[in-house]
Amino acid sequence: MDSADQFRFTHIPHPAPVSVAQRAELLANPGFGRVFTDHMAVIRYKEGQGWHNPTIEARAPIALDPAAAVLHYAQEIFEGMKAYRAADGGVVMFRPDANARRFHQSAERMAMAPLPDALFLEAVRELVKVDRDWIPSGESASLYLRPFMIANEAFLGVKPSAEYLFIVIASPVGAYFSGGAVSVWVSEDYTRAAPGGTGAAKCGGNYAASLLAQREAKAQNCDQVLFLDAAEHRWIEEMGGMNIFFVMKDGTLVTPPLGGTILPGITRDALLTLARDKGLTVREERYSIEQCYEDAASGRLVEAFACGTAAVVTSIGRFRGQRGEIVIGAGNGADPVTEGLRDALIGIQRGQRPDPYGWVQ
Ligand code: PMP
Repeated sequence: MDSADQFRFTHIPHPAPVSVAQRAELLANPGFGRVFTDHMAVIRYKEGQGWHNPTIEARAPIALDPAAAVLHYAQEIFEGMKAYRAADGGVVMFRPDANARRFHQSAERMAMAPLPDALFLEAVRELVKVDRDWIPSGESASLYLRPFMIANEAFLGVKPSAEYLFIVIASPVGAYFSGGAVSVWVSEDYTRAAPGGTGAAKCGGNYAASLLAQREAKAQNCDQVLFLDAAEHRWIEEMGGMNIFFVMKDGTLVTPPLGGTILPGITRDALLTLARDKGLTVREERYSIEQCYEDAASGRLVEAFACGTAAVVTSIGRFRGQRGEIVIGAGNGADPVTEGLRDALIGIQRGQRPDPYGWVQ
């Protein structure tokens, strides 16, 4: 279906939405990713028929044939983005077009039917509109949106599925980390992505592959895991669910380059622009774990931070791993460059600062 009808969502009334009182209770302390709104957006795809039947309906379990391709060969991709309540009571979203584009690229890498970007955006907008009362208004609160796509053709042959289900669900969330600086476990044994692999795609398999390392990080009392490159186990790539930046004593910002093995973070991209416009020198270049430890010891490395939709910008206080532990800067999150970038980003995201980039919609 390629007509304008493709974009018209049928709204199926919710038989029993959550009461106002119950919703207020849930929104008071939502945590991260456990509370969900009343509705979901759904669009179906079938070879020969294209994308069809866009609906907004009650959020509910989905029925899948046990032979559905996603359950066997893991053809699945997703996105993560946020809607915020602006100071004037309106609703704003940060660069949703960039999420639509990345979703499209992920679909292509996983040999899935790409959803037109306009349809992705319309699904997100329609869901936010119908569930707008679920957007929390606290300082670090937002409505986290999770668009995802699964292969649901019932067929056990190994080939790209001929049918897909695209769904958007929404979850009111508070801060991802509880505050201060996070600690990072350097995984020297497990890698996340190899050249030619799926590291740049936001596919579920990448996260499944990262869980054992993340569990190891937790066992080592760390909040996040840091992956090194798969070939030499030496070059810093990214964390389980965030990109990484380093701040040098001379004010230079360093972040690993996008080479197909790390996720091209939208927060990363925004921070590169903000930093350049603040007059900082920014280098997208390889940085080794040995150099990182050496620079932390010599005092050349003064700050490090994680960035992503969920984490926003979070100071890294220390790294731990087989080579021991190093503290970065003060180690407690009092990092001036990181804080400056965080404030600039949050101000734009929440519609509190001018947005010369056209990022906020
Ligand atoms: N790397 C990984 C592995 C991630 O899961 C995420 C979160 N999407 C990021 C980086 C940061 O990306 P973004 O800034 O677009 O949220």
